[in-house]
Amino acid sequence: MLYAQVVLPLAQPMYTFSLDEKLAVGVGDAVVVQFGSSRYYTGLVWSITSEKPDYPRLKPILKKLYSHPLLGPNEQQMWEWIADYYMCTLGEVMRLALPSLAKPSATSYVELEERVIEEPTESFVALSKELQSEETLAKYVEQHRRRSPRRTELMDSIAALAHERNSVDGFVPRRLVDATSQQLLALRSKSLIRTEQRPRERLTSATTNNFLLPTLSEAQQRALDEIKGAHSNAKVALLHGVTGSGKTEIYIHLIAEELSKGNDVMVLVPEIVITSQLIERLERIFEGRTTTYHSRLTPLRRGQTFLRLAASTGGELIVGVRSTIFLPMRNPGLIVVDEEHDPGYKQSDMQPRYNARDCAVVMSRLSGCRVVLGSATPSLESYLNALSGKYHYVELKERWGKGVLPEVIVSDTIRSVKRGERKVHFNFDLLHNIERSLAANEQVILFQNRRGYAPYIQCNTCGYSPRCPHCNVTLTQHKASSRMECHYCGYTMERPLFCPNCETQDIKTMGFGTEKVEEEVSRLFPDARVERLDGDTSSSERAFKRIVSSFEQHETDILVGTQILTKGFDFEGVTTVGILNADNLLSAPDFRASERAYQLMMQVAGRAGRHNDRGRVVIQTSQPKHPVIVYVASGDYHSMARAELAERKAFGYPPYSHLIRFMLRNKDYSLLHQASHAVAAILRQKFGGRVMGPVSAALEMLRGEHRSEILLKIESGASMKLARRLVREVLDTVAQDSRYKGVTITTDVDAW
Ligand code: ADP
Ligand code: ZN
Repeated sequence: MLYAQVVLPLAQPMYTFSLDEKLAVGVGDAVVVQFGSSRYYTGLVWSITSEKPDYPRLKPILKKLYSHPLLGPNEQQMWEWIADYYMCTLGEVMRLALPSLAKPSATSYVELEERVIEEPTESFVALSKELQSEETLAKYVEQHRRRSPRRTELMDSIAALAHERNSVDGFVPRRLVDATSQQLLALRSKSLIRTEQRPRERLTSATTNNFLLPTLSEAQQRALDEIKGAHSNAKVALLHGVTGSGKTEIYIHLIAEELSKGNDVMVLVPEIVITSQLIERLERIFEGRTTTYHSRLTPLRRGQTFLRLAASTGGELIVGVRSTIFLPMRNPGLIVVDEEHDPGYKQSDMQPRYNARDCAVVMSRLSGCRVVLGSATPSLESYLNALSGKYHYVELKERWGKGVLPEVIVSDTIRSVKRGERKVHFNFDLLHNIERSLAANEQVILFQNRRGYAPYIQCNTCGYSPRCPHCNVTLTQHKASSRMECHYCGYTMERPLFCPNCETQDIKTMGFGTEKVEEEVSRLFPDARVERLDGDTSSSERAFKRIVSSFEQHETDILVGTQILTKGFDFEGVTTVGILNADNLLSAPDFRASERAYQLMMQVAGRAGRHNDRGRVVIQTSQPKHPVIVYVASGDYHSMARAELAERKAFGYPPYSHLIRFMLRNKDYSLLHQASHAVAAILRQKFGGRVMGPVSAALEMLRGEHRSEILLKIESGASMKLARRLVREVLDTVAQDSRYKGVTITTDVDAW
């Protein structure tokens, strides 16, 4: 008898089951087990031993599901890293990593069996048993060659294929056999061959590795060579290429090389909406090889994709959003993380609160696969890793072909107001450029980023927004009070009546959204066709595609939108891009505000003039001298990054520290209040001044629950392992304290 440690999709540790050797179950296999008296789960076998554990009565593993293990050793190690680093259980990783239909559960065994999805299969052929030996086959061929040359040739080729592929039982995939169905049927009716449905090896019908690759420019070629150099030194490459520099073309060359070696490639993108555009481009070159993965696929499709990849023998090209990182790769060759700076790679609403970019880097360490992180505006985390030599930094400074970067016009809102050069939310600078584009039958993009946050206040004269003296983030005005609060440490101050900076009385609560912009621009340009692209208008994929394609076809002249517009679109006709209010980007109550503001503005600006030299970007701001605005105007990423890194260092923020955020929630406000202060106090005993809060969460109430947050800042260089151990101790202590029963605490490591 054997014993297996099994992970179940529960927020619990592993369980031990007895394992009958006859089931031929191995590590990484999915199995069916009974748990409790009336629950049946799919579990993953984590380890197997012959040593009998102490527990008196063990339940048996009932059945093995699927012909191939779902996890290989690399994936197993990555799951373990995730569970440890992000402070969750393997069961929570399993819940997320395996598509629901690949891990059925039910209240009875029969019901569970009914829910098991079919693995994708394909037909295999083999010579009949009698003809398996070389001699009998040779004899047969000798006898029949004259009368049926085609038939004997075919049988010879099946034998050769089986030999070439080291097939144990002589079966080879039907699709590799060069014969018509009729020919094969004829052979089968004479009992010369056998056919069988077996798990599909790989979806692709592609048989060629002669891809038609784009010719690279000199600069692109140089970048490609540098990336390859980095990879030969087992380093992660950070590709910093301005918008329109043709990073995708470089990825394509790297992908082709890996696929032709039979290796698997993953391309991660931060948003579903980008997958379809990218797939189209990749399909043109790697026809029949691409597999997509994201949440809008049907559950069946997701389940089958997972099972098919688990059974694959390599050479797969997988494109998808962050959860794609959990798909099995049997021959990991390359992971490309495009737009690596994007917050979309971080999951924050449930465990595991992982960052797929960081998991990709871990995967490269575990499996030896290559990694490219690409961005026009790299995250400061990656940039610092490049500066320190951990990553290899590769820069592409020019746009491909005739494209030049757009001209940036900084338009001073306060001056425009003073001179009467502003209508509603539009400075004349912007209005003139919109007019110019429309008159030339060109298109316009208007960007307004409105976050679901409480508003901030700003002086209308000098642009000043009050900041927390301890945390260097803008203070947030909460709805109910006249006080301003720091989101991180809880510092509060009375809402000022006069601007502390210029002493005028013109302090206002700020904020307006895309809907308002759409309404105003439609009124200002009644002849223009205006549409809006944001979370409200593009909740369905159909609506989204319609809006994007009508803009692509130039059936729309002006597109108003939120950050969704920054996501790598390539619209040919756009010559004016307007950023309506850069101030609310600069004043976000977030230590990353400057970095995010730079990234967002550069990405929106990148939509202008991609195919000609007439691109203009108008940035409306009341702080034209704000360093970030100056860096955007000059496109000077390096200065922005250096200045911002200096501030992060001074205040001990990432990338010079790791942030762990605890969110506590409960319906009872006073219980939550007590619990939050108690948790913060226990944390302070262990971590001292590294603990900030508790404060009310950005969303103070959600679904009837009050929410508060505590932040823990662990400086780089300190042991995160030790920190995590101490945090676990604190959480255990609190969990055992009956006074705080019912208060939910969630933990987010490397919180955004
Ligand atoms: P990025 O992702 O760096 O913003 P893209 O990869 O989208 O840039 O490239 C911008 C445009 O330039 C695309 O339309 C792309 O097809 C074109 N392009 C870039 N490099 C090449 C090349 N070597 N050959 C042909 N077209 C290219
Ligand atoms: Zn503060």
